[in-house]
Amino acid sequence: MVLQHMRTAISKAVSEGHKSFKAIAIASDLEDRFISPCGACRQFMREFGSQWDVYMSKSDGSYKLMTVEELLPSSFGPDDLRARENH
Ligand SMILES: [Zn+2]
Repeated sequence: MVLQHMRTAISKAVSEGHKSFKAIAIASDLEDRFISPCGACRQFMREFGSQWDVYMSKSDGSYKLMTVEELLPSSFGPDDLRARENH
């Protein structure tokens, strides 16, 4: 099994010129629960917006879908910084 943080995959996509995301999927061989991103990865995803989808799977192929907002409520991101500059 290869363990990889989501932020590693996102960084790779960004380095290839992708900065706008609609969804990401995490796969694992966990059998009893859905894989879930760590706190650092949640904040990293948040840097690219809060309204996009995260699919978290189990080994049987079933999945749970949550938005970045749901994974990181009351978050702070680049859009908050822009809002402050306007005030
Ligand atoms: Zn992580």
